[in-house]
Amino acid sequence: MRVCTIGTGYVGLVTGACLAHIGHDVICVDNNPDKVALMKSGQSPIYEPGLADIMRSAMATNRLQFTTDLAAGVAHGEVLFIAVGTPPLPNGSSDTQYVEAVAKGIGKHLNGDYKVIVNKSTVPIGSGDWVKMLVLDGVAERQPQPSLVGAGERLPTADVFVPKFDVVSNPEFLREGSAIYDTLNPDRIVLGSNNQQAIDLMLELYKPIIDRHAGDHADLPPVSVLTTDLGSAEMIKYAANAFLATKISFINEIANICERVGADVTQVSKGIGLDSRIGNKFLNAGIGWGGSCFPKDLAALIHTGADYGYDARLLKAAVSVNQQQRTLVIQKLQSSLKILKGKTIGLLGLTFKPDTDDLRDAPALDIIQILIELGAKVKAYDPIVSSESLPHPYLANVNLVDSPQTLATDSDAIVLMTEWSEFKDLNYQHLATLMRSPLLVDCRNFLSPAMLTAAGFQHIGIGC
Ligand code: NAD
Repeated sequence: MRVCTIGTGYVGLVTGACLAHIGHDVICVDNNPDKVALMKSGQSPIYEPGLADIMRSAMATNRLQFTTDLAAGVAHGEVLFIAVGTPPLPNGSSDTQYVEAVAKGIGKHLNGDYKVIVNKSTVPIGSGDWVKMLVLDGVAERQPQPSLVGAGERLPTADVFVPKFDVVSNPEFLREGSAIYDTLNPDRIVLGSNNQQAIDLMLELYKPIIDRHAGDHADLPPVSVLTTDLGSAEMIKYAANAFLATKISFINEIANICERVGADVTQVSKGIGLDSRIGNKFLNAGIGWGGSCFPKDLAALIHTGADYGYDARLLKAAVSVNQQQRTLVIQKLQSSLKILKGKTIGLLGLTFKPDTDDLRDAPALDIIQILIELGAKVKAYDPIVSSESLPHPYLANVNLVDSPQTLATDSDAIVLMTEWSEFKDLNYQHLATLMRSPLLVDCRNFLSPAMLTAAGFQHIGIGC
C-alpha cells in the first residue's frame, strides 16, 4: 500500500521504516530540511537500535523515501499518518499546534482519491473530530472564496472540490529503545473509527504483522486488534500510560515505606509481581518515571479531567510521588556526604532509560539543576549523549566526560541514573580506587549491592 507518515521523530520514522520493511511503499515527510537531508543519506536522526539498518534496506528497494514536500506525501499516500509532536504547554494541556498545521496542510493537498488520515500522535480526546474539521478547513482555504464570486452568481458545481477521507485514531504504544521490535510485534493494535472502509484499509495495512503472528508462527503471540470509537481509542493511549506511571509511583511509595521499616523493595516487588493479577513489569523502584510521554500524558489527562469538572486525584498523587522521588537522591547524597557545596558528583547515565538518546524530561536533568544550585560540581558519562545533544542550559553546567573512569576520577560520589547494560560490567573495583570517596547511589537498583561492597563501594539503593 502507499503510505505517508508526517513527522519523522521516534514514532513517525519508526512507523514509516517498519511499514516499508513489511512491504509498503512509504514516503516520510518532515518540515525540518536538515533531518530530511540526513535521512536521505541513509542515516537516522535518532538513536534507536536497528532503525538505521531497516531504513537502509528499505531505501535500497525504493520503498522508503524522505521529503519536506507535504503535497507530494499527501498525493502519494492512501494512508496518511500524522505523527508530529504534542509537547506539554505550561498548564499541562497538549500543544496541538503541529497537529493543526499538518491537518490543515493535508486538506490543502488532498486530491480526489479516498484517503485515511490516521492520528498516530497522542492527542487530546476529541481530536479525531477536530482533525476532520481542520482538514475541511484546509480544503475550504483552497476553494475560490465566495467574495471573489460575483454577487448573485453561484460557483459552478464542477469547481467545488469534495474531499473523500476518514479519520482513524491509531495510538502508538512503542517503547523507545525497542521501538522496532514493538512495532513489528505489537501486543495490540487499536483502531478508533466509526467507518468500516477506513478500518478495513488499516487492517490491510497491518495484515503482514497480524498474519506473521498467526498460524505458522506458534512462537509469536497473536496480535489483538481492537476497534473502537474515536474517543475511546484516544483515551486508551492516555489510560495505558497513566496506569503504567501510577504502577511505578506505587512501587516507589512502597520503597519509601520499605526504607523506613527495614524491608527490601526488590524482594517485595518480586513477591507481589508473582501474582498474575499484578505482574512483575513496571514494578522496579527507582528514581521515578520521565521521558517524552508519561509526564506530558499524565498532565494532559489530568487537564482533560479538569476541563470536564473532574479532579483526577489518583493521577495527581502519582505525579506528586514521582516528583518527590526524583529528589530523593539528593537527600541520600546529603545524608552521606553532608555538605554538597564543593563536592563533585558523577552521573552515570543521563537518558531517561537505556537504549535511547531521548533526554526529554529525563530525571537526570532535574538532578543536575538541584546539584548545581547546591554548589556541587557535576560530571556525567552517558554512552550515547554527546555535548551536541545535551540541552544548552545543562551543557554549560555539566562536565560531560568520555568514560566511566574519567567520571570516577576525583568524584565524591557516583549516581547511577540510567540502567545501560554496559554499566553492569564496569570494573567497579578500579573505579572505587579513582574516587575521592567511593560512594555509589544506584537510582535504579541495577547493580548488585554485594558486588559493589566487595569492590570497595559504600552502596545506597532505593528502598533497600
Ligand atoms: P518527535 O518530537 O520526536 O518528532 C516529531 C517530528 O515532527 C519532528 O521531526 C518534527 O520536525 C516533525 N514536525 C513538526 N511539525 C511538522 C510539520 N508541520 N510537518 C512535518 N513534520 C513536522 O516526536 P515523537 O516522540 O515521535 O512523538 C510524536 C507523537 O507520538 C507525540 O504525540 C507523542 O506523544 C506520541 N508518542 C510518542 C512515543 C515515543 O516513545 N516517543 C510513543 C508513543 C506515542
